[in-house]
Amino acid sequence: MKNNVQHSGIRSCVNCGSNDSQLMFTFTKKWLTEVRKVPQEWFDNNNLDENFSSSIVKCRNCGCGYIKDVMKSRDRLCNWSTEELGEKVSYYQSQFSRKDINHLQYNQSLINNLLELVLRKKKTNSELSLLDYGCSWSTNSAIARVMGFSTVVAYDPLHPENISKITPSNMVVDFKFVPNFDDLKKNAPYDAIICQSADEHFYDLQGELKNINDLLSDDGIAYFSHPIMDLDADIKFLRNEANIKDKKILSRLSATFHVYHLNYVMPKMFKKMLNQAGLKEVGTCLMRQRYLGANSLSSKKIIPFLKSYIKYFLSLMRSNYRKTEFFTEKVNKK
Ligand SMILES: [Zn+2]
Repeated sequence: MKNNVQHSGIRSCVNCGSNDSQLMFTFTKKWLTEVRKVPQEWFDNNNLDENFSSSIVKCRNCGCGYIKDVMKSRDRLCNWSTEELGEKVSYYQSQFSRKDINHLQYNQSLINNLLELVLRKKKTNSELSLLDYGCSWSTNSAIARVMGFSTVVAYDPLHPENISKITPSNMVVDFKFVPNFDDLKKNAPYDAIICQSADEHFYDLQGELKNINDLLSDDGIAYFSHPIMDLDADIKFLRNEANIKDKKILSRLSATFHVYHLNYVMPKMFKKMLNQAGLKEVGTCLMRQRYLGANSLSSKKIIPFLKSYIKYFLSLMRSNYRKTEFFTEKVNKK
């Protein structure tokens, strides 16, 4: 297992390792200020001067999109004061509220599915553990703990070093924030690993996927939600963003293309990378909680319900539709 401590620098292709790339787009201070209206404060907080730039390139060998020069300020945050911690904790708590019910129900369905798969595979009666890899402020850890995973670890290498010490450990719904890879290994292997919208932020994508495999128990399940960020389709809009008026396109561009999204890997290529890391897909149908509750036969719920089934059959047929959710297990070593 490799402790990936590096989070900034110059990279070669995240898929094939080639250095031969074509420049697609450069984020500069001028562009971010004028087009995205990024405030000066953001540049100051990240120690970025007038000459700052970060570029999306496309590999000439395999076609993978990625940021070549990853900015320095992605390095680990320093220690937090009590006040800063208070702000983060309030934000975390605010996610368990009415405004986020859709998202909470989605996460609940995800963990339920993960739990079912783990229970089906698990060979012993031992307690279950779960790791949320690249957790940021995800609600998954708390939900997983409530749903029966007895050891739950929330790992984010960009969290400050002191986060384990300053977050309470005497709570009823107890899970642990762990910022260091070495501490993560202490609880390994894990029966379930969640990597939700995190891989697009990984500096060493293949290294981290390999780590996830290494941290997973032989009968465990790893889940990845991988966003579709179609660089080829959107590059013409990104280059012309200053002149675009369509709000839908603008919000897609700003959510997809920014200096923190380092890897623009399409689903088919991502699936291959999972295989290279020793993980293969498990056929499963993720039924969202809200379609399973009371009144599950109402007409409003029928369409998403059918969509889930269609996705399931497409995945059984190994179709390459644009998949975003991957439930995987270890490839059996012979
Ligand atoms: Zn490549």
